[in-house]
Parts: sequence; C-alpha cells; structure tokens
Amino acid sequence: MGKLPEFFVDQDLCTECGDCMKAVPQAFRKVEDEEVAEVYNWDLEESFMPRVQQIMTDCPGKAILWRKK
Ligand code: SF4
Repeated sequence: MGKLPEFFVDQDLCTECGDCMKAVPQAFRKVEDEEVAEVYNWDLEESFMPRVQQIMTDCPGKAILWRKK
C-alpha cells in the first residue's frame, strides 16, 4: 500500500467549520488557541484517499489542498 501525497489547510480560506476534523481526525486538528484547522499528519495509507478527497470537496472554504511539488 502506498501513501497519500502531502496536503495542507490554507488557513486564509478556512471558515473554521470543523468538518474536516470530524471527517478525518487522523489528519486534521484545530490550531491551538485558534479555530482554524491544520493538517498534523498526512502520512496516511492510500485507503484514506476517498475520505480526504471527499472532505476536500465538502470543505466550505475549499481550503484543503495538495502540496504542489
Ligand atoms: S473543512 Fe475546510 S473550512 Fe472547515 S475547518 Fe476544515 S479546512 Fe476549515
């Protein structure tokens, strides 16, 4: 099994809804003392791909992005 490519939250776009943390708590968490989300772990098995792609689509700020190499 491979790993997912790196992804991140653009905090300027995050609306602080918290959906990503509920959808994939293995990857997203709240930034300490703030309401915006961050990716604390992108070292995930490929099996997470559908869930990550779904929350990228569902994120109201379209704030979850692949890190361009
Ligand atoms: S789903 Fe999008 S807008 Fe909502 S907390 Fe996560 S990154 Fe922010």
